Amino acid sequence: MADLSKHPCFNADARLRFGRIHLPVAPHCNVQCNFCDRKFSCVNESRPGVTASVMSPTEALAHLKKTVSERSDLSVMGIAGPGDPFANVDATLETLRLVRNDFPDMILCIATNGLGLLEHVRELAALAVSHVTVTVSAVNEDIIQQIYAWILFENRIVKGIDAARILLERQEAGIKALAGNGIIVKVNTIIIPGVNDRHVDEVSVKVAQWGADVQNCIPLLPVAGTPFGTLRQPEPSVIHAIRAAAEKRLPQMAHCSRCRADVCGLLHEKMRSPQ
Ligand code: SF4
Ligand code: SF4
Repeated sequence: MADLSKHPCFNADARLRFGRIHLPVAPHCNVQCNFCDRKFSCVNESRPGVTASVMSPTEALAHLKKTVSERSDLSVMGIAGPGDPFANVDATLETLRLVRNDFPDMILCIATNGLGLLEHVRELAALAVSHVTVTVSAVNEDIIQQIYAWILFENRIVKGIDAARILLERQEAGIKALAGNGIIVKVNTIIIPGVNDRHVDEVSVKVAQWGADVQNCIPLLPVAGTPFGTLRQPEPSVIHAIRAAAEKRLPQMAHCSRCRADVCGLLHEKMRSPQ
C-alpha cells in the first residue's frame, strides 16, 4: 500500500526527501493548446522547449527497475506525456499495470488535459492510481476556445465553441469521477496574460465544487512560433497575487518545478535524461 504522504508534488514537506520518475510512454495528444509546440513535451505539466524520448511500456518498466536499483528515494511514478496519457490509452494503462504489479508500494500519478479521462477513472482506481493532475485553465467557453485550437473527439477534429463545451463537460465529469473514486486531484491552471489572468477565481471556485483537492497556478512560458509565443510571461508578483486570491478557494501548490515528461529525481534536482 502506497504511503500517500510521500508524494513530493502534493506534499511540500516530502519534496526534499522523495522524488518522482516520469515514464514517457504517451507521445500523442488529443488537443492542440495555443501555447504548445508539439515537438516538445506537454506544457501543461512540463517545462516548454524540452524534448522527451518515448518508451514502450516494457522499456519503461525496465528503465524504472534500473533506476530504482540505483536510487531509493523514488516514491512516485508519473505519466505526463510527452503528449496526453489518454491519447495513448493502451500504452498508459499497460505501463500502469506493469508498474503496479512489480512495485505495489509505488504512488502512481497521471497528468492529463482531461478530455479522455472519464472512461478510464474506474481502471485508474482499480490500479490504485492515487493522484491525477487535470489542466483546467478556464471554465468559460469563450475563454476556453481562445486557449485550444482544436480537440480530437470521437475521431473528429472539433473547434471553437463546440470544442470548448465538450472539453469543459469532460473535465467536469472526469474530475467528479476521480473525486468520487477517492483519487486526489490537482488542477493545473496556466496563467495566460490577457486571456485568463482575470478568470482564475472562477476556475478555482468551479474546480473546488467538482472535488479538486489542490490547485497549481503556473505562469505561461511563451514558446516561439505558437499563437501565444509573443505574449509576455506573467510577472512573479502577478502569480503571487493570483495564488493568494485562489488560496481562499483551494489549497495552492507553489513549489512546482515544471518537470519534463521523462524527469527523474527530487523536484529541485537538475533535470536529466533517462538514457
Ligand atoms: Fe505527478 Fe505532475 Fe508530480 Fe509528475 S510532476 S509526479 S505528473 S504531480
Ligand atoms: Fe501540448 Fe499538452 Fe496541450 Fe497536448 S495537452 S497540446 S501536449 S500542452
